[in-house]
Amino acid sequence: MKQDLYQHHDYYNIDDLLTTEHKLIRQSVQAFVKEKVSPIIEDYAQRADFPRHIVKELGEIGAFGPSIPAQYGGGGLDEISYGIIMQELERGDSGIRSTASVQGSLVMYPIYKYGSEEQRYKYLPKLAKGELFGCFGLTEPNHGSNPAGMETKFEDKGDHYLLNGAKMWISNAPYADIAVVWAKNENGKIRGLIVERGMEGFTTPTTHGKWSLRASITGELVFDNVKVPKENLLPNVEGIKGPLGCLSTARYGIAWGAIGAALDCYDTALRYSKERIQFGKPIGQFQLTQKKLAEMITEITKAQLLVWRLGVLKNEGRATPAQISMAKRNSCDMALNVARTARQILGGMGITGEYPIMRHLMNLETVITYEGTHDIHLLITGMDVTGLDAFK
Ligand SMILES: Cc1cc2nc3c(=O)[nH]c(=O)nc-3n(C[C@H](O)[C@H](O)[C@H](O)COP(=O)(O)OP(=O)(O)OC[C@H]3O[C@@H](n4cnc5c(N)ncnc54)[C@H](O)[C@@H]3O)c2cc1C
Repeated sequence: MKQDLYQHHDYYNIDDLLTTEHKLIRQSVQAFVKEKVSPIIEDYAQRADFPRHIVKELGEIGAFGPSIPAQYGGGGLDEISYGIIMQELERGDSGIRSTASVQGSLVMYPIYKYGSEEQRYKYLPKLAKGELFGCFGLTEPNHGSNPAGMETKFEDKGDHYLLNGAKMWISNAPYADIAVVWAKNENGKIRGLIVERGMEGFTTPTTHGKWSLRASITGELVFDNVKVPKENLLPNVEGIKGPLGCLSTARYGIAWGAIGAALDCYDTALRYSKERIQFGKPIGQFQLTQKKLAEMITEITKAQLLVWRLGVLKNEGRATPAQISMAKRNSCDMALNVARTARQILGGMGITGEYPIMRHLMNLETVITYEGTHDIHLLITGMDVTGLDAFK
């Protein structure tokens, strides 16, 4: 990859709406990405390898659980800070942002929100530092968009629970020390359990052959009569609202994050359009190229405003899951379109690892699918505005 020359784009002076702290956070995560992510990421993605050392480094910069209270090792920051961190990380790579999203929103958040005080103190400080690595097991081979149909189950055996079933498509799974797993009890109620590596009968096979999120590790979680200690049950939630609460937090981060990938594609295409000469002129001087660039920055700007407002609502505790769905869907769709258009501006060079565009483009195919597909989020908005459920 060429030198990382990225410059942030803020066409509508949205920075005026941010605090000094927000801008400092962005500066420091941007510097981290330039120094630690950009120089290595293309190579790891080409080899479909996960840069394991990044877990510790992400912990050191406070990218894990930034809005978890400081007493549990989190950053105690507001929701806009969290969004900015996700955006800067995804500007580097969606896989790196996914690593941080899973650890913060899908592992630390449920332990903080639904866990006992003992569980919080036992796991959260180590997860925040990257000394423990976690994953989130909801999706199953037969249940993706409809997780409530899950088959993974556990039985009360007196002094322990016995867990059986399988989860698939689990980010971080092959290297995770702990997994927050959603399973049904004897009464068919969904509960969360903390499963630890080393428990007998628990394995995490790697998923191979991905053309997307290649620098993020994905795997299965297989439970074959796993004895889980009773103190590992998350005591304070029951039902599908448990995992959905985590997904709302992660989707909020994705809504910000995908804009980072779009910004990187736009920035690359803009620079290229001024340097690449065809027919004796920079290609940026042709109207068709300008149309592409103008539409890209227009869509990016609209998405930036949407997530900023969502961040304000979230800070006030007023953001609804449906509002989060709308922003997640909009950002992912916008980012994919921007990446495809940027790819065209770069012509043949757009498909190479010399530039980050093809990697972002392939990554975004996952980002638009996980944590609720494009169509599922549309149905959530549809249900919200009509009051009618079109899922079944
Ligand atoms: C790289 C990667 C990492 C992931 N990481 C995790 C993770 O860490 N933890 C985790 O639990 N999961 C994870 N996932 C799983 C992800 O959340 C699911 O892939 C996603 O929810 C979609 O489920 P599915 O793939 O089974 O698709 P399906 O649910 O089978 O959907 C297939 C298609 O049918 C459509 N569809 C489904 N139902 C309806 C309906 N009612 N109306 C209209 N259309 C419908 C969908 O929109 C989609 O287009 C990951 C996935 C990927 C690819």
